[in-house]
Amino acid sequence: MAETGAARVVDVCARAKINLCLHVLGRRSDGYHTLESVVTFTELGDRLTARRASGISLAVSGPFAAAVPVDETNLAFKAARLLAARAAPGRGAALVLEKNLPVAAGIGGGSADAAATFRALIELWDLDVAPADLQALALDLGADVPVCLAGGTILVGGIGERVVPLPALPGLPIVLVNPGVPLATATVFRTLAGRFGHSRKALASVRTTSELLDLLGGCANDLTAPACALVPAIGAGLEFLGARPGVRLARMSGSGATCFALFDDAAAAHAAARDAKRRHPDWWAVATRIATAAGARSAC
Ligand code: ATP
Repeated sequence: MAETGAARVVDVCARAKINLCLHVLGRRSDGYHTLESVVTFTELGDRLTARRASGISLAVSGPFAAAVPVDETNLAFKAARLLAARAAPGRGAALVLEKNLPVAAGIGGGSADAAATFRALIELWDLDVAPADLQALALDLGADVPVCLAGGTILVGGIGERVVPLPALPGLPIVLVNPGVPLATATVFRTLAGRFGHSRKALASVRTTSELLDLLGGCANDLTAPACALVPAIGAGLEFLGARPGVRLARMSGSGATCFALFDDAAAAHAAARDAKRRHPDWWAVATRIATAAGARSAC
């Protein structure tokens, strides 16, 4: 998080959320699915800036600006309004969101923006909100918002409210590819139609990074089959990433359509992203790194 000058501008990175695995364990009577997921964040993200103002306003810029609402239905706006209502009545802020992440893409863009808005406004408005209260507010906005607020590498449980830190993945190179087709999470869960996966209980007792990476190899994303049925290009993305030299793990994130690959070597990651763009000019493809614990809360 960066803060500048007397005009008081708070600058926060809303990092892309990557589900390194995602096991769908069941469905509650209220319709929410219960999950087990290992989540981490990339250095790449949307950029949110906030400055003091008399009311709450939002402007959106960046390569994916056209794909998000600019009114009060934007999750950044909703987060600002909710925080003001619960913890800072009458306070205002002018928010600017640089939308660098594709939308409806399985990388939690809206949830990351909401969590970033909380962090920015707590700083801008000098608020002292108890962590448990903030987590409850986050869950009110969406199941992925608590983990985006937590940052780091996290084991997520329940419907998203259980966040347990795991060993960090220290700046690992990662490539993201997206075929440019938005995919609504609800549609993918409907297509899953109750074909649930199973828990990998060992995830809860992981002690080291290498143990975590070994275990992830035997995990899955249970939403891959329904997402591929809806958007066959996801299969092409997974095949492309899985065949790159030096790849350690290739998988879909969230409900898709973004797929990721982890590499040991940054040069191999950059070569894979370049190759993806050359062979599939219509894909979004980037090489970045997993954000370190220190970087999780810094500006973009
Ligand atoms: P998840 O991985 O959490 O399922 P996602 O990456 O698939 O999320 P988002 O990019 O968060 O999906 O977009 C989901 C929906 O939320 C879209 O229909 C979009 O219009 C809406 N939305 C509202 N605000 C935002 C925002 N700030 N950024 C992205 N989408 C937003």
